Amino acid sequence: TEAKQKKSLKQFFQPFMDGKALNRLVLENDLFEALQQNQLSLVYQPQVNLITGRIEGLEALLRWRHPQHGWIPPDQFIPIAEDTGLMIPIGEWVLRSACQQAKLWQESGLGPLDIAVNLSTRQFYAQNLAETIGEILEEAGVHPANLELEITESMMMNVEHAQTTLQALKKLGCKIAIDDFGKGYSSLYYLRHLPIDRLKIDRSFIRDLEHNHRDDTIVSTIISMAEHLQLEVIAEGVETIQQSEALRRKQCYRAQGYLFSPPLTPELFVQQFSRLMISPK
Ligand code: C2E
Ligand code: MG
Ligand code: MG
Ligand code: MG
Repeated sequence: TEAKQKKSLKQFFQPFMDGKALNRLVLENDLFEALQQNQLSLVYQPQVNLITGRIEGLEALLRWRHPQHGWIPPDQFIPIAEDTGLMIPIGEWVLRSACQQAKLWQESGLGPLDIAVNLSTRQFYAQNLAETIGEILEEAGVHPANLELEITESMMMNVEHAQTTLQALKKLGCKIAIDDFGKGYSSLYYLRHLPIDRLKIDRSFIRDLEHNHRDDTIVSTIISMAEHLQLEVIAEGVETIQQSEALRRKQCYRAQGYLFSPPLTPELFVQQFSRLMISPK
């Protein structure tokens, strides 16, 4: 009967206590302290102009160094932050840090560099988003036109909300980019109705660009659609020269990816800044 008891206990606990659930619980608790204890930081990935070779922008990407578990990727802790509501203070911290960094670089003569910051769904649905961003920009002394906000397609499914929020952000003077474009529910409706400045072609279309005819066609179509709608376009996840050449031929002139640079700490970025400028063909 002892074995039987053990078995039923095991069955009872298994659904919750598997490694993943336990891990999540641990991370959830620790995330509360991450912000106060300076465990969060930002790294920056350059966005390169494929014609001039210049760095025109930087995307700020969040990192968490856990005291016991080391670096935890954003894909693992951002969903937890979203569920617990912590993404609101964390998101504000990201915006503030990125703007302060942009100001420092501006003052040290690097630039003009536009900073792109990812917004989470929770942030996008917060009542006072535009107001908060306005305050952060003013405090940091950064011009709103130098801040680009990245949102994803899923955030636009509530078109009415998206319209109101994006209009407020545009009124502030910020730019809006659609991240991971093509991966979610791409709708021509929102491209026509919402004030969007840039499409970021999802890296899943770039990966096999040279070998997959369908991906090639989709990328060409996105680029030409963007041109007709007077939207700017950038390719993400560019890892090879061949991909970068193919994009240039298709008249996509901005790209981001490991070919140019991984995301870097501010210190490394400054050290490598001139090396990161690619020589134009
Ligand atoms: P994302 O916004 O689409 O960011 C691009 C991701 O692709 C980054 O991963 C970047 O490191 C990675 N990447 C860049 N170049 C290449 C490449 O050539 N090849 C490949 N395979 N990957 C490349 P990361 O930093 O792990 O971020 C993952 C996602 O987490 C981001 O995707 C974004 O959705 C989210 N995220 C990161 N930071 C923040 C943040 O501050 N706030 C919010 N709400 N989300 C964030
Ligand atoms: Mg992004
Ligand atoms: Mg992306
Ligand atoms: Mg993303």
